[in-house]
Formats: sequence, structure tokens, C-alpha cells
Amino acid sequence: MEKETKCIQAGYIPANGEPRMIPIIQSTTFKYDTSEDMGKLFDLEASGYFYTRLQNPTNDCVAAKICALEGGSAAMLTSSGQAASFFAVFNICGAGDHVIASSAIYGGTYNLFNVTMRRMGIDFTFVDPECSDDELNAAFKPNTKAVFGETIANPALTVLDIERFAEAAHSHGVPLIIDNTFATPVNCRPIEWGADIVTHSTTKYMDGHDASVGGCIVDSGKFDWFAHADKFPGLTTPDESYHGITYAEKFGLEGAYITKATAQLMRDLGAIQSPQNAFYVNLGLESLHVRMPRHCENALKVSEFLEAHEKIAWVNYPGLKGNRYYERAKKYMPDGTCGVVSFGVRGGRGAAEKFMSGLKVAMIATHVADAHTCVLHPASATHRQMNDEELMAAGVSPDLVRLSVGIENVNDIIADLKQALELV
Ligand SMILES: *Cc1c(COP(=O)(O)O)cnc(C)c1O
Repeated sequence: MEKETKCIQAGYIPANGEPRMIPIIQSTTFKYDTSEDMGKLFDLEASGYFYTRLQNPTNDCVAAKICALEGGSAAMLTSSGQAASFFAVFNICGAGDHVIASSAIYGGTYNLFNVTMRRMGIDFTFVDPECSDDELNAAFKPNTKAVFGETIANPALTVLDIERFAEAAHSHGVPLIIDNTFATPVNCRPIEWGADIVTHSTTKYMDGHDASVGGCIVDSGKFDWFAHADKFPGLTTPDESYHGITYAEKFGLEGAYITKATAQLMRDLGAIQSPQNAFYVNLGLESLHVRMPRHCENALKVSEFLEAHEKIAWVNYPGLKGNRYYERAKKYMPDGTCGVVSFGVRGGRGAAEKFMSGLKVAMIATHVADAHTCVLHPASATHRQMNDEELMAAGVSPDLVRLSVGIENVNDIIADLKQALELV
């Protein structure tokens, strides 16, 4: 199936007389005729459902759709994008291990890695995504277990050279994990470029309507855990907490990683997506292939308008000719990048605030990547405790405005920006 058909049909095939739409199985538990039947499920001897914290049929259908879109071998939903990032990394490393991450990543992921996971004894090295091959290779240590980056970074809008990062990771015997939230599998499929594991905040374009927070992890099934067995004992040696199962042996390379993440991490940490939310994500997925091209088309027109405006100091959009990442974006995302644009208003912090207060169509919200156009001035919102110098050090200039271009009529969006700029 092509991606458009997968958006509609993958993951759920109703049998004769069954509901056309993925049913919401709003049930914590599932009934069995004998204790023996249930015992087999607990031993992972038979597949089936027994408790929604571990697996739920609605969630599995939606995960299977995202898995098909990404070209993976197995997938699971999580309660949020944050939970997906945490599980994706924590599934293959623990105290005493080390992970390399691009420095251009979502702020929430940066905190998760640099503060919370450090407290768990996991060490991180953050590398400039444009560092040289030598610098990248020098970041690896004997205890490095994974490399992490974002296809298009939120909010820096840098485009990762996925192939280069995959080659470096593989030459050191570890997998590459890619957060593909901004591009979505409609625009980029990181597994085709060498990524081993893909994560999503489904909260963004996948849901696409500000309706539900969620996450997803997709495994390519291609990373050979046995070839580097000493690095990944959690997958290649018996799990005593699960009756001595060796995941990579019992479930093969295709199933080991997601089964372990479900059987251990979801069992113990419980960050499940509710079936109701999974249903909303599925509704979003059914139009993802129609919405993404419109987001990109609108964002490009908005970027071109801004670039030509005298009150705009600079525009950053990887789909805009002349952008530092334009060529790389064309390679990895020939059909378009995303709808998020950042730009600077001449006059700095005060001018940006004035501009923001004049907007009528674009709503001020701490959110990105959905149908509604929304806008954020980090210097007066998420980063307001910082002075101008601290902002620059964090890579957020005082004049920076982050605009998530929605799928309204682009003329209304541009007219709104125009009238708000006149107030500055
Ligand atoms: C929003 C976001 C996250 C976190 O997702 P939540 O669903 O908010 O927990 C992770 N990565 C990226 C790129 C994001 O934009």
C-alpha cells in the first residue's frame, strides 16, 4: 500500500460484520475461560489481551497503522511523546551507560535526558548536529548504547543528516533513535535512511486537532542485538522478571525491542495511552496525508511573505530556498518539511510582543503542529525568566517568534500577520 492508503486502512481489517471503524475497547481487563489460558498470556506463550496497562486492542490497531507508515516491524503507543522518548532510550540502557544526543532537540527531551535520566545514572553527550565526522566519532565511549536526534528539530528547525548519524551509530555497534514528530512519516521515513527506532509525539500532526496527548515508538526490526550482545544484555540474556525469557531469541529481531518495552517498561511504569485517545489519534492519521502537504504549502507562502517584509529581520524555514538546510530537506523530505516557521521581528523583544498582541487569526498557545495556526514568543513565555544574554546562549534570540502554520486559508493567515506587523 502507498502511504495515503496506509493512513486510511493500515492496522485494522474488520472481519465479516465487524465495525468499519477501529472500536474503542474501553476495558481495563479481558476474560478467559481457564486459568491455564491466562497463564499462557502471562508467560508470553500465547498472544492476547489480559490487562490494558500492558496491551489494548484499540491501541494496538493504531500502533500498527503508525508502524506501517514508518515501515517498521513493531510499534507501541505511550501516554505522551515524553514517555515515548524515555522508553525508547531506557529500554536499551541503564545506570552506568552513555547516550549521544543531538543538541538540537525539543526542550522537554533535553530536560528528560540532561536532568532526569542523569539522576538515574545515565550519562549524555550532546553534539552539535553539524559537527565533523571526527567530532561525532570522538563522542562515542565503550559504554555508549544509543544515538538520538530529531528529523526536524523543535524549535531550532535544523534538519538532521540521518544517514550520517546512522552510519556513525552503526560503526560503533549501537542503534540510531529518531524523533520524527515534525516531519511525520508522510514526509520522511527515517528507517529508509538507516534509523533503527523512531519515536513520535502523536500530540502534534498525527492527532493534528489539539485533542489528545500521546506518543508512539516504532522499531525497524533491523538492528542486530546479537551482533553486539555484550552491549545489550537486556535483549540478549534471560529476563528473570519474565520467566527467563530472552527477548531477541524468543521474538526475533523484529519483535524483541517492542516486546521488552511492553513487558518490562509498560508493566512497571504504566505510561499507557488511553484507548479513547488512541481513537482520536487514528482519526487524525486518516487525514494526515491530506493535511501535511497543506501545512507545508501554507508555511512556504507565509515564509516567503515574511522574508519580503521590511519589519522582519530573518526567517528560518527549511523549505525556503536559501535556508541552510534547504538542500538536505529536499533529500530527506522531497514532498515538504513541516508547518513550523520561526522568524525575528525588527526591534527585538518589545517589537515581538507588540506584534503578538495584534494577532487575531494566529492564536497564542504553547503548542505547535496542528490544524490551528498558533504562535509563541519564547522570550515572553517559555523562556521569560531569561535576560537577553541568557536567551542568546540558549539559541533563542529575544526577537524570535515561533509560528506553527495551520491549515486555514493562507490568505487569512498572511493578512493577519500583515496587520499585526503594521502595529509595530
Ligand atoms: C512535543 C514534542 C515532544 C513531547 O511530546 P508530548 O506529547 O508533549 O509529551 C517530543 N518531541 C518533539 C519533537 C515534540 O515536538
